Amino acid sequence: MPSNSPKTDSSPVSVLGLGLMGTALATALIGAGHPTTVWNRTKSKTGPLAAQGATPADTARDAITAADLVIVCLTTNDNVRALLAPEADALAGRTVVNLTNGTPGQARELAEWAAAHGITYIDGGIMAVPQMIATPGAYIFYSGTDEAAFETHRPTLAALADTKWVGKDPGLAALYDLSLLTGMYGMAMGVAQAFAMIRSEGIPARELAPLLTDWIIAMTRGLVPEGAEALDTDQHLTDVSNLAMNREAFPNFTTAFAEQGLHTDLFEPLQDLLDRAVEQGHGADGFSRMALLLNKD
Ligand code: NDP
Repeated sequence: MPSNSPKTDSSPVSVLGLGLMGTALATALIGAGHPTTVWNRTKSKTGPLAAQGATPADTARDAITAADLVIVCLTTNDNVRALLAPEADALAGRTVVNLTNGTPGQARELAEWAAAHGITYIDGGIMAVPQMIATPGAYIFYSGTDEAAFETHRPTLAALADTKWVGKDPGLAALYDLSLLTGMYGMAMGVAQAFAMIRSEGIPARELAPLLTDWIIAMTRGLVPEGAEALDTDQHLTDVSNLAMNREAFPNFTTAFAEQGLHTDLFEPLQDLLDRAVEQGHGADGFSRMALLLNKD
């Protein structure tokens, strides 16, 4: 259980959406001693939670009216909007914590809708897979206009994972969440390309795995903090690995992929970006410059 979580708490809470994540969230709340009401579109998913002590609700409205704190975790924010819109009157005066993955813009729209109906809205971004919920290392970003409401419910939310409040703009939790996931997906696709490359000669991926792990950790340790510092101080000149050199070397990737019988389309946009960097006169800069080139302004 996360360090800032109490062992037991009697505040009632309702959970709407019992997919893999919603089920893990409800399980954690039950485990922390909260009277927990659960609802899911497919009712059979309430069974295992009822066996652990949750109260299954027949309708979303029944679940909403069972607690001041309503946690929602559906597939998309379109689903959330469709589910909550007809229940606005029941939600008025309560706090919705939306842990559905979405965009900053979607969070701001939901917050506006909620405010117009007298509903307190807190958006969240879960930095964990379901198996990590209520274990050390898991955390959830939160943001919303009503920080006091967040503080009121923080002890309950702490049963799920460590809580990281990131500000009063409701879009900020999604912004932090998607920023971290952006780094993760970029890395995951690089790993996929690396495995495809090594396996193109029949070498098992597991032979590359320890080397790749160490390499990514070593590269990240330098690239991330130094890149952030360079960006924030607008000092991009480097004597380590400049963009002009990288641009000249980069065709080796796509050429090698083609030679090895692999698709080249994942890396082609990166070549375009390097070309643009050099054409715009940034050849002597390091990779920190690339973040600026991704900015449309
Ligand atoms: P699942 O696919 O396991 O569950 C989706 C849930 O959404 C189910 O309860 C489903 O109901 C419900 N749902 C979908 N559409 C509707 C609708 N129109 N009306 C009502 N309910 C609906 O997904 P997860 O639980 O894994 O993910 C839920 C959210 O958590 C997503 O936004 C995801 O991005 C986020 N998340 C997930 C992580 C993970 O590792 N799983 C990690 C971090 C965030 P039904 O059972 O009836 O289909």
